Amino acid sequence: MDIRHVEEFMRRVAESETKTFPAKGKLKVGLDLGTAYIVLVVLDEENNPVACEKQAASVLRDGVVVDYSGALDIVRRLKAKLEERLGRELINCAIAMPAGTESSAKTHSYVAEGAGFEVSAVLDEPSSANAVYEIQDGVIVDIGGGTTGLAILKGGEVVQVEDEPTGGTHLSLVLAGNYHVPFAEAEEIKQDYSRHKEILPVLKAVVEKIATIINRYVKGKDIDTIYLCGGTCCLTGIEKIIEKETGIKTVKPENPFLVTPAGIAMNC
Ligand code: ATP
Repeated sequence: MDIRHVEEFMRRVAESETKTFPAKGKLKVGLDLGTAYIVLVVLDEENNPVACEKQAASVLRDGVVVDYSGALDIVRRLKAKLEERLGRELINCAIAMPAGTESSAKTHSYVAEGAGFEVSAVLDEPSSANAVYEIQDGVIVDIGGGTTGLAILKGGEVVQVEDEPTGGTHLSLVLAGNYHVPFAEAEEIKQDYSRHKEILPVLKAVVEKIATIINRYVKGKDIDTIYLCGGTCCLTGIEKIIEKETGIKTVKPENPFLVTPAGIAMNC
């Protein structure tokens, strides 16, 4: 997909949070169990967005489910909400985990199955995002709550995946420290687009650290574009800092938050 199509697709996925699009045939579901959010995206057979639900959660650490019953409750609730909106049962779902944490695939599957899904595919997060981007050569960088994941692509194939423990949670911790406010308040400030200009200088050093992580894996690899996704990339101006630090053209869609969950659904 070229970046304009990605933009349009992601706009409709975001719209499907509040609007249910009509769908016939098989429904494809992507479950993203994240450190900061749990997201369910529903697409139709042709990958058109149908509906989406998400909830903030702290039931995972470093890609591992640490509160199984909490995760189960949330997924059950989101599934029930979607089923009510759609007037039909959701049966299959695809799941994904941060690269390098595949050994926790079983726990992720148990959460999905416990909530009533049959798991039809198990993927890694940054590779899932490429179902949306369809990149031939380049790198996808998924900056989530707890980690930064990378998928390096050559000739349309994922040739390397990496995951490092720095993400949006670290930005919020820095903000909480600088503003002398509790973590939850720092999260609110960070997610308020009207305050991004004010907070970016405070967060610059952590974003530069994320850029250093990216550099470690892309240096000398003849990569001409960095494709961003993940909730932390909502931060206005993050792409400019990453572009400056890496010296590589950096792009992100207007709504980077739902790229990975939508890509997971495409693989269902
Ligand atoms: P991980 O991939 O590390 O397991 P996750 O899947 O929960 O985590 P995402 O849902 O992609 O990660 O992103 C969550 C992060 O995005 C959180 O740190 C959250 O604060 C941040 N975030 C969400 N919205 C915004 C916003 N508008 N501005 C800045 N950051 C945001």
